[in-house]
Amino acid sequence: MMADVMVRIGQGVDVHPFSADDRRRLVLGGVRIPDEPALDGHSDADVILHATVDALLGAAGLGDIGTLFGSDEPEYAGADSQVFLAGALSQVAGQGWQVANLDLTLIGKRPRIGPYRDRICASVATLLGVKSEQVNVKATTTDKLGFTGRGEGLACMAVVLLTSAQTH
Ligand SMILES: [Zn+2]
Repeated sequence: MMADVMVRIGQGVDVHPFSADDRRRLVLGGVRIPDEPALDGHSDADVILHATVDALLGAAGLGDIGTLFGSDEPEYAGADSQVFLAGALSQVAGQGWQVANLDLTLIGKRPRIGPYRDRICASVATLLGVKSEQVNVKATTTDKLGFTGRGEGLACMAVVLLTSAQTH
């Protein structure tokens, strides 16, 4: 019996502006970041989880976060984006895929991600059901260039590799 391991790669990109609403809280990768401006959006605007969802769906050929969850749906107003990740993951896993690794790049002037890197890594890994070593979180400031460099918002890029072991 032969085992063919198939691999699929997916990319996700998400952007949110900072919010003027001081009732909102900054959430990155499912981790609350205190004392920093929050991001604006229909849900909790967790830019890391949104990019991750799109990377997962892209790798599995399942569309994107908007088609799956509807960015204007009233039920998702203020939603915890962990719901989106769980939904996407169950669809991806349902097709026999598992996450090999996830590489995340947060793009923005602030917040400084260093103090939260390990917690974000652990949080995203837990949500994906993988080990922390399978998730990498890095950040870049774009040297004051563009909307991210001016601190107007945050962007995140995610690349995920899925593997599937099928026997013949
Ligand atoms: Zn988003």
